[in-house]
Amino acid sequence: MVFGVAGVPTHYKGKLSGLFPWLAEMGLNGLEIQCTYGFKISDDNKKFYKEMSENGFSLSIHAPYYINLGSLNNQVVGRSKSNMKEGIEIAKAVGATRIIFHPGGGHENSEQGRKTAIKQIIDSVNEFTSEIDMADVRLYPEIGGKTASLGSIDEIIEICKNCKYCYPCIDIAHLHAREIGSLTSKEVLKSKLQKIKDAIPDKFEKIHFHAYTINYGEKGEIKHLYFGEKMPDGREGLPNLADFIDVLKEMNIDPWVISEALDSQELGAKYMHDLYVK
Ligand SMILES: [Zn+2]
Repeated sequence: MVFGVAGVPTHYKGKLSGLFPWLAEMGLNGLEIQCTYGFKISDDNKKFYKEMSENGFSLSIHAPYYINLGSLNNQVVGRSKSNMKEGIEIAKAVGATRIIFHPGGGHENSEQGRKTAIKQIIDSVNEFTSEIDMADVRLYPEIGGKTASLGSIDEIIEICKNCKYCYPCIDIAHLHAREIGSLTSKEVLKSKLQKIKDAIPDKFEKIHFHAYTINYGEKGEIKHLYFGEKMPDGREGLPNLADFIDVLKEMNIDPWVISEALDSQELGAKYMHDLYVK
């Protein structure tokens, strides 16, 4: 069971060395290191992370946004592949076992264009993972938040099916937003997870979640909401996190859940953790 936060929470003001006891006090035992602007971690911070992973803290890393294995530009794909290899080395150095990445894109947003892009991502991942010692590190393509972005459930399944080292990162808020508000009940969420389980049962056991509530529009994701914040029109923020925890329990999923609640990651993570252990 891992419940953790995406990056250093905004409410935490101290040094990195004090972050882990601060999180542990709330029952949290996971951190997703945000390398969203580059796989760069200072040597000091690497030391702290390494120590924490050795002390039972589960670490994942969010890859840079500029990684784009599905790009039409060969140079971008080439650079993304070598960046991913650097990321894998960093993960090994600090004891992180999961790297989350966005599938990227650039091909035409048509059925054929998307298929071509997914095939290219699969080939790219298989290429660079065969050139490096992966050790315990696994790669997690993430559900995309915009209707046009790559990373539907079917696309994530397709990548995981065809890449030995890929496992699903299901960002339930992105899923809700890209499907223009689809996760309106526990049953809907459950059926979507069941679909993934049926398609890739062995990979499903190591599924990774991002969970928080989200504001969305006709093109999908607009903005992550603060923990407990309502939608601009006054409706409750979705997906419902208590329902999500119920589904995890009902499906016997061993959770690895990262809260990306806006400026309140630890509040969302603690809320979900407490419901899970209740
Ligand atoms: Zn992401």
